[in-house]
Amino acid sequence: MKRRPVHDLPLTIRENPRARRVLIKLVPRTGLVVVVPQGFDTSQVTSILAEKQNWIVRTRERMEAEGVRFSRSAELPDTLDFPVMERQWQVLYLPKPGNLRLTTNATRLIVSGPQHDPYAVQEALARFVARQAKEHLPPLLHAVSERLGLPFESVRIRTQKSRWGSCSARKTISLNCKLLFLPPELVEHLMIHELCHTRHMNHSPQYWQLVRQFQPQCRHLEKRLGSALSLVPDWMP
Ligand SMILES: [Zn+2]
Repeated sequence: MKRRPVHDLPLTIRENPRARRVLIKLVPRTGLVVVVPQGFDTSQVTSILAEKQNWIVRTRERMEAEGVRFSRSAELPDTLDFPVMERQWQVLYLPKPGNLRLTTNATRLIVSGPQHDPYAVQEALARFVARQAKEHLPPLLHAVSERLGLPFESVRIRTQKSRWGSCSARKTISLNCKLLFLPPELVEHLMIHELCHTRHMNHSPQYWQLVRQFQPQCRHLEKRLGSALSLVPDWMP
């Protein structure tokens, strides 16, 4: 087995006033994160990492074998495809001074402005995704809610790392804007899943019975939803 040195991982040092001791973590798409107590002498971090080298190498190999990547991708998309909206845009990049601006027409999304920082462009694209989600996911949820006869109180669109949605005790449904990258049947299933929580705030047998009533394929769809994070493009921060 090839052992790789620690230092080619991106390193982030974070000060946390509540930390009692130094904590080392490997965080997907971020790299090595060292959490230190407030006022900690960060010049010690190098020797701490050297001490922990074996653990870091082992953990990294295990996580990479599971498909985790540690460096943030600087890639930018050529197309933006939102299956649930039946929309696809070709993305065009126009380097220009001034501020980053995104404009669309029927087939194109034009990103104009400074392009030297791919991460800034990614953030701007992510804001575009969030705006599209805010416009298009709530009407879809309303339609599914009406069809099922399961009303909810309000809907929120959020950008979350790994959670597709949630439903609060007050029947507020939160949807992840990244749902736009998923096929329509998975988006619909997530909506059914959350709407059924307006009746049962748990995953009890009664809850699943209700879900199955609306979606007999629910087990299969839950499974697909569980691995659907891989459908979110790498450029999405
Ligand atoms: Zn649930």
